[in-house]
Amino acid sequence: MIPISMPLIGAEELDAVKDVFKSGILAQGPRVQEFEELFSHYAGTRYSVAASSGTTALHLALLGCGIGVGDEVITTPFSFVATANSVLYCRGDVVFADIDPETYNIDPEKIEERITDKTKAVIVVHLYGQPCDMDAIVKLCREHDIRLIEDACQAHGAEYKGRKVGSFGDCGVFSFYPTKNMTTGEGGMITTDDRDIAENIRMLREHGSKKKYQHEILGYNYRMTDMAAAIGVVQLKKLDDFNSKRRENARRLDETIAQLDGLIDPHVSSNVRHVFHQYTVRITKKWDTSRDKMASSLTNKGIGTGIYYPIPIHKQPYYEKANEVLKVSEEASKEVLSLPVHPGLSPEEMDYICNALLEL
Ligand SMILES: *Cc1c(COP(=O)(O)O)cnc(C)c1O
Repeated sequence: MIPISMPLIGAEELDAVKDVFKSGILAQGPRVQEFEELFSHYAGTRYSVAASSGTTALHLALLGCGIGVGDEVITTPFSFVATANSVLYCRGDVVFADIDPETYNIDPEKIEERITDKTKAVIVVHLYGQPCDMDAIVKLCREHDIRLIEDACQAHGAEYKGRKVGSFGDCGVFSFYPTKNMTTGEGGMITTDDRDIAENIRMLREHGSKKKYQHEILGYNYRMTDMAAAIGVVQLKKLDDFNSKRRENARRLDETIAQLDGLIDPHVSSNVRHVFHQYTVRITKKWDTSRDKMASSLTNKGIGTGIYYPIPIHKQPYYEKANEVLKVSEEASKEVLSLPVHPGLSPEEMDYICNALLEL
């Protein structure tokens, strides 16, 4: 079976973890600090703060931006549920703005329609590895004096007009879950240029303390381990190569999809470097089978597929509000299908996938 995603880890990562074992410092220590410094350098921000997951990093970012009870936060319904959940953790109100039908990213015009006096922040998601329309979004947030958080959990190394994602907002948030463009097992990172936010987030990560056993505010244990950070240091060095392979694989898939009537290939905006966390096609009415049939045909040929995401967040039971219609997201959730694009695919496997698609 060719999996839809697969972590690429090897001897170098293992050696790095062995060194941590020998050091005896297993929890947050010097490797976390090293990873944070390297990550800031890579993302082009002044500060980075490592966390135990992408989800806890999102929670910290929102707390760092001052989101609290009753604050409205505008975000996309077409994402992994963690994006919106982070707002609920702060006891804020999630306000959904619909997406662009071509990029599947949040639509800046829809954001503007949903801004009220209570709007405190916007969380954009660079979905599938493609940056959002950052010029329009940054301008909007400045004009309305709203905080901007970038959920870049699928977009490590992606660029908008030559600048890395995670460096546009008040905070950028990354995940290092094994399916992502780089991994630490579990892990997350917050990037920011704001010293106060960085300091506050560091405190919140450590039970609200700067000095041991002096707790100034209510905080959490959201620390990354030195074992995870050691893996991250090695993975970060490989990230650009991983992403180049993803982009090459995407090009091969593009050539194949172009020959198939009724399938729409991923739209890539001008001015962006898309890092293809997912390669997602859209199955239109012209295609002669359903999406589920297409997925099972591929599974039968030994090719894994994925649906990201089959239920938009506003349709999940604890978010569902009567009469909330977000048409573009709802349609997309019924028509998208992701194909393997990860850097672990061999040229032979890519050939096999492309031939299998042509035979459908
Ligand atoms: C993976 C992901 C997260 C959460 O990251 P975890 O490390 O799994 O907690 C949040 N948002 C998006 C868009 C993601 O893809």
